[in-house]
This record gives sequence, structure tokens and C-alpha cells, in this order.
Amino acid sequence: MKYNTEVINEIAYMLAEMLKNAVLVQQKSEEGVVRIAQIETGMREALRQIGNQALSNLLSSLQTTPVAEIECECGGFLHYQRMREATVISVFGKTIYKRAYYAGCSCKKGKVPLDENWD
Ligand SMILES: [Zn+2]
Repeated sequence: MKYNTEVINEIAYMLAEMLKNAVLVQQKSEEGVVRIAQIETGMREALRQIGNQALSNLLSSLQTTPVAEIECECGGFLHYQRMREATVISVFGKTIYKRAYYAGCSCKKGKVPLDENWD
């Protein structure tokens, strides 16, 4: 994957401002001493949470508008039921996203096409 340096710089600037505010709040509450290790730990946790939310948003955004019905492996038809949550364990922790779920075929099987794209 290639990344746009300008976008990375913009996000890094926003993250630094967010963490600077958190450090300033911590300095006031702990009488002025904040160690670099604390800043690193706080930044790592913030990046983990941001990554988790960004992955969730990305996965959910890849779901296109569901069609009313799709073919079933048995030759019948599956009907769109609802947007259903899924949880994956990612490097960011438990990541939740939503995707279309199909069921209602006489064979009683369900199908989630988006998950099948990702194995
Ligand atoms: Zn079927």
C-alpha cells in the first residue's frame, strides 16, 4: 500500500495536538511531571484506538447497498435480512464492523458475501 505523505503529515499533526492537550491536562493534575515514556504509552494506546476505529469504518464502508436477494449455493434464493455486526481480532484489538446478511432459503443456510470476499 502507498500512502499520501501530505495526508499522513496532517493526521500526525492532529494526533500530536490531541496528545499535547492530554499531556497538558495530565501535567496540571500531577504537578508538572510527565515522562517521555508516559507520552509514548499514551500515543501507542491512542494509535491503537484510532486504528481500531479506522479499520471498523473501512470494513463497514466496503459494504455496498444490499440487493433484495442473491442466489444460494443450492440453486434457491437468499433474501436480505439486515446489517449484521461481525467481530474480528485485529492487531488493534476486537474490531467490529457491519455487513449485509442473507437468509431465508429453503435449505436454511445463511450467507454473508462480504465476509466470503475476505475468507
Ligand atoms: Zn439454499
